[in-house]
Formats: sequence, structure tokens, C-alpha cells
Amino acid sequence: MAAFRPDPPRPVSPVAPRTDAPRGVAAPVARVIEAFRRLPGIGPKSAQRLAYHLVRMPEAEAAELSEAITGVKQRIKLCETCADITEATTCHICTDPNRDRSTICVVEEPLDVTAFERTRAYTGLYHVLHGAISPTSGIAASDLKIKELLQRLQANTADQTVTEVIVATNTNLDGEATAMYLQRAISPAGIKVTRLARGLPSGTDIEYADDATLAHSLESRAEIGA
Ligand SMILES: [Zn+2]
Repeated sequence: MAAFRPDPPRPVSPVAPRTDAPRGVAAPVARVIEAFRRLPGIGPKSAQRLAYHLVRMPEAEAAELSEAITGVKQRIKLCETCADITEATTCHICTDPNRDRSTICVVEEPLDVTAFERTRAYTGLYHVLHGAISPTSGIAASDLKIKELLQRLQANTADQTVTEVIVATNTNLDGEATAMYLQRAISPAGIKVTRLARGLPSGTDIEYADDATLAHSLESRAEIGA
């Protein structure tokens, strides 16, 4: 009898199905469950529920969902000016002639732009950093869209003069570190750098702040280091 030899160890792939996938689940379903589990806020039970919902879904509906997911990756890009997510080269806010071009609100994520737009309290422009400086996670200023922001400010021209940058990063350690960095980088250029008012609870994610609080903290923003 041949001696039992275990399989050689396989390299761990980030797409390899988890070994704790439910037993007795067909491989295609297990694959979908695993894909859902990678989404934020989806636990194992929700992932299973969604996967079995997909199994029961009419084929046309499933195809539409699949097309929407593929399409979002293929068609979206970052606005060349503000780095927000857009379908065009320049987003609809940057091209809107009615926006106040003297103010740029700097946010961490595209969802934060949505949060401010919901308040209808802001009519200026935005700049999306795509994260925050985080020494603990090894995220440096060079990993974010900070260089692009500084270039944008340097390109101040007669018809587009930015006089204020509102730093609307989250109110946690990383957000504060980013705000300080931006203040040091921008204020020597003579541009006012303001921060959302303290009314926003510490540790707040801008995207989850309620509209009234966000509008109020925007209205009563204060200059950093003043
Ligand atoms: Zn834009």
C-alpha cells in the first residue's frame, strides 16, 4: 500500500475559496458567497442570503446586475481636476459654471462629496484625497491626491482664484494629521485653510454625519492655526 502523502502546500491566493465555506454548497454558489463576504458590512450569513437570492433571481435580472458591476469598473474614472468619481474626463461639479470657484472642500472619499451635496449648504468645488495620512497604516501624503491638490492651487489664475481650502477630513487621528499636513503645505501660499467646526463629534466619518450637523459644522468652520 502506498504511503499516504499530504498534498504539497499550495500558495495562498487572495481569490482562493475560504476553507470555512459551508459544506454541501455547490462550488459556483460558494464562489458567490465568498465574493459577497469581501464586501464591507456583509457577514457570512448575509453573504449566504444574498447568494441564494441570486440563485433564485430571473436570469435577465442577474445579467443586468452582472453588467452593472462590470460597467462600473469599466466606465468610471477619476475627475482630472478634483479626483472625484466620474464618467467623463471632468466631473459635473468641476464643469458647473454656477459653482463658487474660490473655495475647495477637501474630503477623504467620494462618498463624502455626496454627503456635502446632500446638505445643499455648499456651492464650492471639491478635492478628493482617496484616503488620509495614516502613519499606523503606512499611508503617506504621497499615496494620496495631495500633490494634485497643491498643483491645482498653484494653477490659480485670474478667472479661478482659490482663496479658501476647507479641510473636511474625518475627525479621527488620521483625519486630523491630514488636516495639519494640508495646513502646513497650503497656508504659506496665502490661501486660508479652514477646518469643519467642532460640532462634528470626534471620530466622525463625514459620510455618516447627518445633514444638519454637517451643514452646521461647515457654516461655522474655523481657520486652522488662527
Ligand atoms: Zn471634478
